[in-house]
Amino acid sequence: MSGNQMPGEVMPSPGEVVLNSDFPGQTPEGVWGTESPRFVPSFVVSPGGQGAKPPQGYLEHLANVSKSEATLKLEKKGKEGEENSEQSERHGFSSQSLGSPGEMPGEQSGEQQYCSPGYFIRGVCENGHSFAKELLCGREWCPVCGQDDSTAHMRRVARWLPKAQQMATMGYFVFTIPEHTRYLYRTKKKLSLLTKKLIAGDTKLHMPGLLKSMGFERGLCRWHWFGDESETFNPHLNVIVEAGHLPKSKLAEIKRAWAGILGVDMADVHYSYTRQPGKMFHILKYVTRATFHVLQWDEYLAAHIYNFRNMRAWGKWDDLPVWECTEKEKLAGVSELESGVCPECGTPISWAGKPLLMAFLKVWAGAGMAKPLGAGYWRLPDD
Ligand SMILES: [Zn+2]
Ligand SMILES: [Zn+2]
Repeated sequence: MSGNQMPGEVMPSPGEVVLNSDFPGQTPEGVWGTESPRFVPSFVVSPGGQGAKPPQGYLEHLANVSKSEATLKLEKKGKEGEENSEQSERHGFSSQSLGSPGEMPGEQSGEQQYCSPGYFIRGVCENGHSFAKELLCGREWCPVCGQDDSTAHMRRVARWLPKAQQMATMGYFVFTIPEHTRYLYRTKKKLSLLTKKLIAGDTKLHMPGLLKSMGFERGLCRWHWFGDESETFNPHLNVIVEAGHLPKSKLAEIKRAWAGILGVDMADVHYSYTRQPGKMFHILKYVTRATFHVLQWDEYLAAHIYNFRNMRAWGKWDDLPVWECTEKEKLAGVSELESGVCPECGTPISWAGKPLLMAFLKVWAGAGMAKPLGAGYWRLPDD
């Protein structure tokens, strides 16, 4: 515990930190990427808890999104910047979680939450800028993490936002799987292979990807496991690409090819597109939301896709943003922090040390020693 203390601040005594010292601060991306298996024992699912009902009609909001969510700011500069580097796509390997300031899960009314009582870890960049990051279980069925607009949700949005902001037009596909073949896609391995076949393939396996070979140079994808109004497994892959109107013939071709990958006669593929930043932001939120709201809906699936890397991106993402998001103040720096980089100087942050109880962070915040940055990140005094 020594060497990690905030100068002059109240620190927990070792006995108060109940988690083990090797509690990792980061996990591979996963829908239910837990911070550590050791977190599991304290996780008890009570049926009918918050989040039992998937929200309905969320997507319909897309039709009348107000401008308050995001504003259009098309700038030529974004398009002129060429790919100036061979830098490959940057994966955000980080834990999913946390609440924006004032919305700390478990904070209200002292309710016992799955992510309660809450822990955080500290991180320092190469230049000594110091941060704190709240740890969450990140599970879709957690009443805290599984909520729309939860911190876990907003961290996922923040991770993709810089990429989405490079798209002047956003195309949104939903690839469905016919009911009679869904049973084939209930493990990480099968889902991963299917995902690769559809998006960018796998060069090591000499396997082409459908969308990439059809000219979609970059994109983002994430599975939803259940439909909005159903409790039966209904996997569908959401794919965001940079595209506008597609000719019917091309859509038909994509549909045929998808059915071919699945080995079925026909499979539904939905497609829509938008140029409005507000709607793009909503698509981002919609795609990154949780759909597996209750563990009992499918415990087998839950066990078999544990730590599945659900958020995937392909292609190059080094253009400048072409639109701006008014939610940005809330997410300022969160995208960088989610990818493990200091928002102030761009050097890598190393997250280390034992998790500490959130209560201490709140004490520091009360003393003006910790400033909330949103999505469960905090700025601490420099080392
Ligand atoms: Zn949680
Ligand atoms: Zn820094």
